[in-house]
Amino acid sequence: MKYNQNNIFFKILNKEIPCNKVLETKHALAFYDISPKAKTHVLVIPKGSYIDIYDFNKNANSEEILLFWQAANLVVEKLGLKSLGYQIKSNIGDGGGQEVFHFHIHILSDLA
Ligand code: AMP
Repeated sequence: MKYNQNNIFFKILNKEIPCNKVLETKHALAFYDISPKAKTHVLVIPKGSYIDIYDFNKNANSEEILLFWQAANLVVEKLGLKSLGYQIKSNIGDGGGQEVFHFHIHILSDLA
Protein backbone atom coordinates (compact mmCIF):
# COMPACT_ATOMS: atom_id res chain seq x y z
CA MET A 1 0.00 0.00 0.00
CA LYS A 2 1.33 3.43 -0.97
CA TYR A 3 0.66 6.64 0.95
CA ASN A 4 -2.39 8.38 -0.52
CA GLN A 5 -2.42 12.18 -0.20
CA ASN A 6 -6.19 12.14 -0.40
CA ASN A 7 -6.64 11.89 3.35
CA ILE A 8 -7.95 14.39 5.88
CA PHE A 9 -4.72 14.77 7.87
CA PHE A 10 -2.71 15.57 4.75
CA LYS A 11 -5.28 18.30 4.08
CA ILE A 12 -4.94 19.58 7.65
CA LEU A 13 -1.15 19.73 7.26
CA ASN A 14 -1.61 21.69 4.04
CA LYS A 15 -4.07 24.03 5.75
CA GLU A 16 -6.80 23.07 3.27
CA ILE A 17 -9.02 22.32 6.25
CA PRO A 18 -8.73 23.71 9.79
CA CYS A 19 -7.92 21.92 13.01
CA ASN A 20 -8.12 22.79 16.67
CA LYS A 21 -4.38 22.93 17.23
CA VAL A 22 -2.67 22.01 20.50
CA LEU A 23 0.88 22.55 19.30
CA GLU A 24 3.12 22.38 16.27
CA THR A 25 6.83 21.58 16.01
CA LYS A 26 9.27 21.12 13.11
CA HIS A 27 8.13 17.55 12.49
CA ALA A 28 4.77 17.15 14.20
CA LEU A 29 1.32 18.65 14.62
CA ALA A 30 -1.06 17.97 17.51
CA PHE A 31 -4.75 18.81 17.45
CA TYR A 32 -7.99 17.81 19.17
CA ASP A 33 -9.91 14.87 17.74
CA ILE A 34 -13.11 16.08 16.12
CA SER A 35 -15.07 13.24 17.69
CA PRO A 36 -13.52 12.75 21.15
CA LYS A 37 -13.62 9.28 22.72
CA ALA A 38 -12.40 10.58 26.12
CA LYS A 39 -12.54 13.82 28.10
CA THR A 40 -9.26 14.78 26.47
CA HIS A 41 -8.57 13.30 23.04
CA VAL A 42 -5.65 14.68 21.05
CA LEU A 43 -4.10 13.38 17.85
CA VAL A 44 -0.39 13.77 17.10
CA ILE A 45 0.74 13.38 13.50
CA PRO A 46 4.13 13.63 11.82
CA LYS A 47 4.48 16.19 9.05
CA GLY A 48 6.05 13.53 6.83
CA SER A 49 3.84 11.24 4.80
CA TYR A 50 3.67 7.87 6.57
CA ILE A 51 0.71 5.51 6.41
CA ASP A 52 0.89 4.06 9.90
CA ILE A 53 3.22 3.45 12.83
CA TYR A 54 4.85 0.51 11.06
CA ASP A 55 5.67 2.66 8.02
CA PHE A 56 6.87 5.48 10.31
CA ASN A 57 9.15 3.23 12.38
CA LYS A 58 10.57 1.67 9.25
CA ASN A 59 11.03 4.69 7.01
CA ALA A 60 11.21 7.93 9.01
CA ASN A 61 14.66 9.25 9.83
CA SER A 62 15.91 9.37 13.40
CA GLU A 63 15.27 13.12 13.77
CA GLU A 64 11.65 12.73 12.64
CA ILE A 65 11.14 9.85 15.06
CA LEU A 66 12.81 11.60 17.99
CA LEU A 67 10.96 14.88 17.47
CA PHE A 68 7.64 13.11 16.93
CA TRP A 69 7.81 11.39 20.33
CA GLN A 70 9.11 14.59 21.94
CA ALA A 71 6.01 16.35 20.56
CA ALA A 72 3.82 13.68 22.16
CA ASN A 73 5.45 14.45 25.52
CA LEU A 74 5.02 18.19 24.95
CA VAL A 75 1.28 17.62 24.49
CA VAL A 76 1.19 15.62 27.73
CA GLU A 77 2.99 18.42 29.58
CA LYS A 78 0.95 21.21 28.01
CA LEU A 79 -2.35 19.56 28.93
CA GLY A 80 -1.22 18.52 32.42
CA LEU A 81 -1.73 14.81 31.74
CA LYS A 82 1.51 13.48 33.25
CA SER A 83 0.31 13.33 36.82
CA LEU A 84 -3.23 12.24 35.89
CA GLY A 85 -2.39 9.43 33.50
CA TYR A 86 -3.34 8.86 29.90
CA GLN A 87 -3.41 6.33 27.08
CA ILE A 88 -1.53 6.38 23.79
CA LYS A 89 -3.09 4.35 20.99
CA SER A 90 -2.37 3.84 17.33
CA ASN A 91 -4.62 1.90 14.98
CA ILE A 92 -2.99 0.08 12.09
CA GLY A 93 -4.80 -1.02 8.95
CA ASP A 94 -8.35 -2.18 8.45
CA GLY A 95 -7.88 -4.96 10.99
CA GLY A 96 -6.75 -2.39 13.55
CA GLY A 97 -9.67 -0.06 12.89
CA GLN A 98 -7.60 2.65 11.20
CA GLU A 99 -9.77 5.21 9.40
CA VAL A 100 -7.24 7.86 8.37
CA PHE A 101 -4.20 6.51 6.59
CA HIS A 102 -1.72 9.14 7.73
CA PHE A 103 0.14 7.90 10.82
CA HIS A 104 -1.20 9.31 14.07
CA ILE A 105 -1.32 8.52 17.75
CA HIS A 106 -4.30 9.13 19.97
CA ILE A 107 -3.59 10.64 23.41
CA LEU A 108 -6.58 10.01 25.65
CA SER A 109 -7.36 10.87 29.23
CA ASP A 110 -10.60 10.66 31.16
CA LEU A 111 -9.35 12.77 34.06
CA ALA A 112 -8.37 15.97 32.31
P1 AMP B 1 -8.16 6.17 13.38
O1 AMP B 1 -9.33 5.27 13.48
O2 AMP B 1 -7.05 5.79 14.33
O3 AMP B 1 -7.69 6.31 11.94
O4 AMP B 1 -8.65 7.58 13.90
C1 AMP B 1 -8.94 8.67 13.10
C2 AMP B 1 -9.43 9.74 14.01
O5 AMP B 1 -9.45 10.96 13.31
C3 AMP B 1 -10.84 9.51 14.58
O6 AMP B 1 -10.78 9.48 16.00
C4 AMP B 1 -11.63 10.73 14.07
O7 AMP B 1 -12.56 11.21 15.01
C5 AMP B 1 -10.52 11.73 13.81
N1 AMP B 1 -10.81 12.76 12.81
C6 AMP B 1 -11.36 12.59 11.59
N2 AMP B 1 -11.45 13.76 10.94
C7 AMP B 1 -10.92 14.70 11.77
C8 AMP B 1 -10.72 16.10 11.68
N3 AMP B 1 -11.06 16.82 10.59
N4 AMP B 1 -10.16 16.75 12.73
C9 AMP B 1 -9.82 16.07 13.84
N5 AMP B 1 -9.97 14.74 13.99
C10 AMP B 1 -10.52 14.06 12.97
